[in-house]
Amino acid sequence: MITRQPNSSFSVSNEWMQTALDSTSLREFKTCPRKYYYSTVLGMVPRDSGPHLTFGILMHEAREQYEHCRTRNMSHDDALDSVLASTLEKTWDRELRRGWASGHPAKNRRTLVQTIVWYLDAFGKDDPIETLQLANGKPAVELSFRFDSGLTTPGGEHVIFCGHLDRIGHLGAGTYIPDIKTSSSEPNAHFAASFTPGTQFSLYTLAGKVAFDQSIDGVIVDGIQVGVGFARFGRHLIPRSDSQLEEFLSDTEMQIETMWRCAVTVHWPQNDMACGMYGGCPYRGVCSLAPAQREDWLRREFVQRVWDPLQIRGE
Ligand code: SF4
Repeated sequence: MITRQPNSSFSVSNEWMQTALDSTSLREFKTCPRKYYYSTVLGMVPRDSGPHLTFGILMHEAREQYEHCRTRNMSHDDALDSVLASTLEKTWDRELRRGWASGHPAKNRRTLVQTIVWYLDAFGKDDPIETLQLANGKPAVELSFRFDSGLTTPGGEHVIFCGHLDRIGHLGAGTYIPDIKTSSSEPNAHFAASFTPGTQFSLYTLAGKVAFDQSIDGVIVDGIQVGVGFARFGRHLIPRSDSQLEEFLSDTEMQIETMWRCAVTVHWPQNDMACGMYGGCPYRGVCSLAPAQREDWLRREFVQRVWDPLQIRGE
């Protein structure tokens, strides 16, 4: 049996039960308990994370670094130079002496650099979202959070909500959590509608209210569609009312009960209706084998890493 690595987000009394939950863990469990087991409980992930995930992570990091530079009073041009220098460094393989070879026509090193320039020109330079100042005087940028959800497992353990916000900012009379999402389709009204209902932005709004004591109205998402020779952007408000958040909490309470049952029985059922979602589940090759053959396949095709959302990012 594949051995789990130590992970501080799991219970000490039941090693299979995660008691510090972030939106990624919750989303994986809701999508398919077996997928959650492979990705989060065992931490077995594909050897190559793929161009889409890498591109999205690098875009996120570029935006965060840009905000840090601007809060240190750097000009737009200087902040952009700093971001591009870091991005080129991160996408350079020193051993192989070559740039990131994504193998994807639209998600590669060149399109990444041009998308960062176009995006920050469009939504960085004269951004109407004003970054909030926290009570400690620091700008509300790159914020790790954890707070008691008020929910408990059927075994009586408190469940922590945790994760990471890029920023908190004011826009007009509202206070929002800005976030970015790369998309394969145009970031239009249909794209915006896909976030409601949605675990990630409900949890982010709740975190802004509880962990940072702000009157948060929802999330502002910058959608980024990347093509071979173009990028399209769309900014949308994704509101969350108090009653929607209450519903999210009561639904999550039931998900935690189910998660606890899986942990106690050490059995995470397959949701075979989810295998084709999000471009196809990466564990399809595993699940389509006979149960006795799966572990060998996992060891051969995947690598183990620890997904611990209690790890703090930033300051
Ligand atoms: S292939 Fe299907 S059943 Fe298996 S983990 Fe993925 S979604 Fe779940």
